[in-house]
Amino acid sequence: MRGLCPNCVTGRIFHAYLKVNNTCPHCSEEFFHQRADDAPPYLTILIVGHIVGTLMLLAEEFWPDAPIWLHAMIWPTLALILSLWLLPAMKGGLIAYQWALRMHGFGEAPVEPGPRPAPPRAA
Ligand SMILES: [Zn+2]
Repeated sequence: MRGLCPNCVTGRIFHAYLKVNNTCPHCSEEFFHQRADDAPPYLTILIVGHIVGTLMLLAEEFWPDAPIWLHAMIWPTLALILSLWLLPAMKGGLIAYQWALRMHGFGEAPVEPGPRPAPPRAA
């Protein structure tokens, strides 16, 4: 979740905000087979929605006379900041989770050329 390689905990997973390196720059662990896809935004929306939604309800309960323009300024800004902060952490955490479970090609031995097995005989 800190954007570090799950193998060596030194190299960076990302080379841009959400762009994943093909390999770790420190230990050469391969990341190109990660399949984070839509899961990081889904988790981010889930968490940010619960935080901001709860805070909105609490603000409405304890500060019912707050002007609507203040609500219109605070909640979208908070949701945006939390989302931008959480999204790389969710993506890095998910890639590390896939790596730990050896999913999607993580941990497979490299394919070495060798004799091909004979095709099955027709009966
Ligand atoms: Zn590494």
